[in-house]
Amino acid sequence: MSEKILVLGAGTGGLVAGNLLALNGYNVTIVEKNEYHLFQPGMLWIAFRGHKPDKYMRRVDSLVKPGVNLIHDRVELIDLEDRTVRLSSGKTIDYDKLIVALGASFDYDAVPGHKRLWEQYGDYYSGPQHAERLWRNLSKIKEGTLVLAAANPSYKCPPAPHKAAFLASETIKERGLAGKVRVVLALPFIHAYASETMAEIIEPKLEEAGVEVRTMFTVESIDVENRKIYSLEGEELEYDIAAVVPVHKGPRVEIKPESAVDEDGFLKVDKYTLQIEGFDDAYAVGDCNNTPTSKTGVTAHLGAEVVADRIMGYDSRFTGRTNCPVVADGTAAFVISTYDHPVIPVKFSKFKRLLEDLFIAAYWSSLRDPEKWRTAFKAYFRATDPSVLGEEGW
Ligand SMILES: Cc1cc2nc3c(=O)[nH]c(=O)nc-3n(C[C@H](O)[C@H](O)[C@H](O)COP(=O)(O)OP(=O)(O)OC[C@H]3O[C@@H](n4cnc5c(N)ncnc54)[C@H](O)[C@@H]3O)c2cc1C
Repeated sequence: MSEKILVLGAGTGGLVAGNLLALNGYNVTIVEKNEYHLFQPGMLWIAFRGHKPDKYMRRVDSLVKPGVNLIHDRVELIDLEDRTVRLSSGKTIDYDKLIVALGASFDYDAVPGHKRLWEQYGDYYSGPQHAERLWRNLSKIKEGTLVLAAANPSYKCPPAPHKAAFLASETIKERGLAGKVRVVLALPFIHAYASETMAEIIEPKLEEAGVEVRTMFTVESIDVENRKIYSLEGEELEYDIAAVVPVHKGPRVEIKPESAVDEDGFLKVDKYTLQIEGFDDAYAVGDCNNTPTSKTGVTAHLGAEVVADRIMGYDSRFTGRTNCPVVADGTAAFVISTYDHPVIPVKFSKFKRLLEDLFIAAYWSSLRDPEKWRTAFKAYFRATDPSVLGEEGW
């Protein structure tokens, strides 16, 4: 097939869509600025359990199917009207179909003091080197308070701060520092989790792990000199170490026309087809779009399948399905919802932890060879669809 497919970004969404289309004979070009793909949940294990980053990184060229034209360059301008993309090298590429999969970017200047805090302690969102810095800082603490907070209620993988708190408290216990080092999870929600249904399940688990929860705490500013975090709601928290989830924005590239993005820079798409509003030859998958669902690897993967199907002529539709894992103490639960069904109750169990570990083990293969996992994933998502599990959950 001679149709030229241009995929921007070799993250979860870009690799799945690009590889599925290449397998089906399309002429696929992927543009990616980095040589390595990072399994982003791995940053939690680097920052709070001291894992080595290379465990969670693979060369991008090892994750694309033969025949994919992989270009390592930075996207600077996407001109949807002109059907061209300009790269940092000065090269301009045209396309028949475009898939934007550039993920989200972070704004460390949005909250006063955040950039200095991040430079000092690192975090578990912005890259393996920053996660390693957080681990080094955590390793020094003998007593005091670790604060894990968020600067905005909307961020990728909503249970990531909870996972961070569970993993940090495991490390602190192993070091014999329980009671000396407090873990405080400060969140911009009414409950311990954005969805009350899951908050009721997660909260007792946090209590069991000795994590102190502060609700209705949206980080407004950080006083690095006096080690205090202030919230929009008028509260303050003292810390000895802190990591704050950064404010998320759309990809840091120029997009023409400007009306294709919302006020935070996310691409405006039809939530079912993932087509960019007003352009039937352009799609946006994963964290870079404005779909009203959680930004996660699972949604990026499922969205990429929908886009690949649609380009191949099938009437596939994205359901907004989420499956965010919360990992705690040898067990796991999943935050499951779709556009049509709010979050259902899913309890922690060892079996779900096994499933999560299997998903992680399958990650690299599911990017390079998504077709091999489709039947198994489909069976899982069908069996655990909220309409099947119902209000009783799982
Ligand atoms: C701490 C943490 C824990 C998480 N845990 C989970 C989890 O357990 N389960 C889950 O499903 N999800 C989880 N996620 C979320 C998940 O990793 C993301 O939602 C997913 O990676 C999004 O995929 P994407 O393809 O949209 O974007 P990304 O995977 O971020 O890919 C974007 C790609 O675009 C490239 N790029 C960006 N700008 C440019 C440019 N200008 N030019 C060229 N290339 C560019 C980037 O280098 C990157 O490779 C977690 C995230 C974090 C941070």
